[in-house]
Amino acid sequence: MRIGLIDVDGHNFPNLALMRISAYHKSKGDTVEWWWSDLEHYDIVYMSKVFSDAYSPDVPEPLNADKVIKGGTGYAISLGNDGREYFDKENHADLPTEIERCFPDYSIYPQYEFAVSMTSRGCPRQCSFCHVAAKEGCRSVKVADVSDFWNGQKEIKVLDPNLTACRDKRDLMAQYRETGAWIDFTQGLDIRLLNDADIEDINRMKLKEVHFAWDNPKEDLTERFDNYAKLGKKNSKGRLATVYLLTGFNSTMEENLWRIYTLRDLGYHPYVMIYDKPNASKELRRLQGWVNNPKLFAVCKRFEDVDSTKRQNASRT
Ligand code: SF4
Repeated sequence: MRIGLIDVDGHNFPNLALMRISAYHKSKGDTVEWWWSDLEHYDIVYMSKVFSDAYSPDVPEPLNADKVIKGGTGYAISLGNDGREYFDKENHADLPTEIERCFPDYSIYPQYEFAVSMTSRGCPRQCSFCHVAAKEGCRSVKVADVSDFWNGQKEIKVLDPNLTACRDKRDLMAQYRETGAWIDFTQGLDIRLLNDADIEDINRMKLKEVHFAWDNPKEDLTERFDNYAKLGKKNSKGRLATVYLLTGFNSTMEENLWRIYTLRDLGYHPYVMIYDKPNASKELRRLQGWVNNPKLFAVCKRFEDVDSTKRQNASRT
């Protein structure tokens, strides 16, 4: 069979489902390629999308395929009457087991040299802006070993949504450490659950980057972050962790700035995320443009000084 693949999100990050689909069909002797033209005929075209339409608009279905299969979280997110996004389980199907078990075919993304892993799924937190619990369940459960994703790459990007909440985290942390690869916890470890043994595990790894999150402004996590700042390892750039901060959901600007200043003063790198960014206020966009611009954030200490700092910088150049 001739199989076509479409990564609807673009090719900005390897799509795990498509890599597994590719591996599965290649193991059956099928020809697998990126769908690229209406001129060819395909037996099946797979379209996969991780992000919602607001961030990753859908693309037209190809007409030159006997069958088109669409899948991924992005296709199951719909907009509610209140303007918020919801995960609709009815519109989502997990990959068939025989595909889910395939080792990812990294050759379809030759531009990336790292491995991606998802060794646990689910999260007990059920944050109302997040789709993980609805999609994967309210417990963080080990679903695979690191060797199911990694075959010697120098770096592993860990996609587990809340590894810190997983009962088997000791085993998984040890597996990550034993690879000797650079480890990047891309999705955020849960600082509220991080214990001394977790910190010890992290400290014994080759740590490329660790991300945390401080999404709820009503929760004061200063002490937790202070503790990690004292005991935790710096990342490969000699910095403490990056911390995602959700804004535009249920926080005031005062609460946003409080979290930003607290983290910065403890030595972290805050990173502003905006809920429903396409409809966000100008002020929130300015805030994001300041905090997420490392050079500007380093020279301008207060949000109210952003415009004057920019003017000074412009007059110097
Ligand atoms: S802790 Fe993270 S993964 Fe878990 S529900 Fe909240 S945002 Fe989602």
